[in-house]
Amino acid sequence: MGTQTTIEKLEILADAAKYDASCASSGTSKRNSTGGKGIGSTEGMGICHAYAPDGRCISLLKILLTNHCVFDCHYCVNRKSSNVRRARFTPQEVVDLTLSFYRRNYIEGLFLSSGIVKSSNHTMEQLVEVARMLREEHDFRGYIHLKTIPEADPELVHQAGLYADRVSINVELPTDAGLTRLAPDKNARQIEGAMGKLKSDIVEAKDNRKRFRHAPRFAPAGQSTQMIVGADAATDADIVGKASRLYDSFRLRRVYYSAFSPIPDASAVLPLKRPPLIREHRLYQSDWLMRFYGYQPSEVMQATEADGNLPLDIDPKLAWALKFRERFPVDVNRASKEQLLRVPGLGVRAVGRILASRRHRTMRLEDVAKLTVSIAKVRPFIVTADWRPVLLTDRADLRALLAPKQEQLELFAA
Ligand code: SF4
Repeated sequence: MGTQTTIEKLEILADAAKYDASCASSGTSKRNSTGGKGIGSTEGMGICHAYAPDGRCISLLKILLTNHCVFDCHYCVNRKSSNVRRARFTPQEVVDLTLSFYRRNYIEGLFLSSGIVKSSNHTMEQLVEVARMLREEHDFRGYIHLKTIPEADPELVHQAGLYADRVSINVELPTDAGLTRLAPDKNARQIEGAMGKLKSDIVEAKDNRKRFRHAPRFAPAGQSTQMIVGADAATDADIVGKASRLYDSFRLRRVYYSAFSPIPDASAVLPLKRPPLIREHRLYQSDWLMRFYGYQPSEVMQATEADGNLPLDIDPKLAWALKFRERFPVDVNRASKEQLLRVPGLGVRAVGRILASRRHRTMRLEDVAKLTVSIAKVRPFIVTADWRPVLLTDRADLRALLAPKQEQLELFAA
């Protein structure tokens, strides 16, 4: 390891960080321009995209400080018993890389995580040291997202929040039983305890800044977490229930879902196949329903099938509407915002435009068609001045009529 170049380390530690889903580019298909064919690559080392608190999409250098780890989480390629190539950056090396990428305009910030080397406290100290050097010695104004270690001293985790824009702690698995079985060194109570402490630090810092203009910032972009999907028997109903409890208890900005992907030399307790990527996509859609469309977790769970999982062939909003057809059709010219948000195919922006337009004129089907990608999906669920679905809403084969064609689904196949 002593002879590894920075590029070799970057190759290993950026690749090892790709399993973290907390960025928008995770899960994209592999493309590159080797052989002089085309231009560009999705396989570049360590750059990912995330959304800043103001909604801008920003590029981040996404790496691990090290992929050495003293823990042995079964689902993790970096676990102690794994046979992967290892590397380790010093805090100074991460600082130098971040600054040189930043000065070249390749990135607008840093996403830094780490395996546990020596001890949780030692690792957390090193993560904090990177952020401290960037902020205090180099006056770095870019975005910093630090993964924090729940087993570390709370004071060290607190220091992370003083330097970082966002902090996160992975809950890893949707159920405590799954965590005990697949991550024997981790403890669900400790993880949630650390998340609770972060939440109160964030709330306290916000209050202080309202009263004292110069009070220190603490993780102004809040905290997030990640759950692995498909490594244990947890159903989508379990996952939605857990996510909703985490949002309520810890005021999380985001729960990220990461479809479990089989790793080399996998432990026998893991499934052999990864779940279809579309399962992860359906969970993100259900997350949006709860965060932006006013659905209660219990309502999202109503959209699941008999096995507790969301259907893969249709989105959860459509699945819910098909189960509760007595709530439809809704009159686009009279329905409340809440009712309109339940219409499959109408997004938050389309509903906003309908509410604004109908103040001045009566909406016709063609007016709604201009606001949606697929009017065919919307028609069974709405009434307009010139349209009423009559028997369409109750047709037994409505699901088959509205389900996307097979080729579209295959885009998300594993
Ligand atoms: S603590 Fe577990 S999940 Fe994190 S790097 Fe180590 S083995 Fe992987």
